[in-house]
Amino acid sequence: MADRLTLRRGDRLVLATHNAGKLREFRELLAPFGLDIVSAGELGLPEPEETGTTFVENARLKAHAAARAAGLIALADDSGLSVEAIGGQPGVYTANWAGSSASGARDYTVGMRRVEDALQAAGATTPGQRRGAFNATLCLAHPDGREQLYVGKAEGTLVWPPRGDKGFGFDPVFMPDGFDDTFGEMPSEAKHSWAPGRVGLSHRARAFAQFVEDALGGGVEH
Ligand code: IMP
Repeated sequence: MADRLTLRRGDRLVLATHNAGKLREFRELLAPFGLDIVSAGELGLPEPEETGTTFVENARLKAHAAARAAGLIALADDSGLSVEAIGGQPGVYTANWAGSSASGARDYTVGMRRVEDALQAAGATTPGQRRGAFNATLCLAHPDGREQLYVGKAEGTLVWPPRGDKGFGFDPVFMPDGFDDTFGEMPSEAKHSWAPGRVGLSHRARAFAQFVEDALGGGVEH
């Protein structure tokens, strides 16, 4: 069996995302580990088209494209919001539901409104009818083709109107189970709420915890 991918303090890692919100969260999550982090954008790598139909396929596609182009180990995230009452949509197409402005930038006000319109059309008005989950799949890829996958999920309720201006994307309409605040109202440390040996709150933090356990030797070196 080929060696598993591991990372040590000082190792270079490409963050294979062009999404500013995800980049910020990954940089915060990775800060304690002393890696030499560079983003796909900083390396001038093109953004691959997400032609997959699952989070796993898209995460693999992005991680391998960046690892090959940079000749370095790369970490990619494919994530999205799946809402029960509308058959799991928008799912892998979450970013597309946010449309794009003339400049090409996503407009999440549009995306959140589309989800709400779909919920209304489905007659989903009570919290129990407005269940949803954020999913995150991380892929760690080596230029030689090796890869490791980590999956995280955060369940909660869709609220309307949007609340809070923290976080990014669909955070203002997602209230995770066990909390009265949306992700958009939480400081980022609360949304991540990750520490060695703990589960974490957000889908990304939960997938990240597995990545740390598997590829970073389980924790922070002192
Ligand atoms: P992709 O993984 O680049 O296809 O994009 C996933 C989309 O899901 C993002 O553009 C966001 O709209 C949404 N998303 C993923 N994770 C989060 C999150 O933590 N908070 C809010 N929205 C998210």
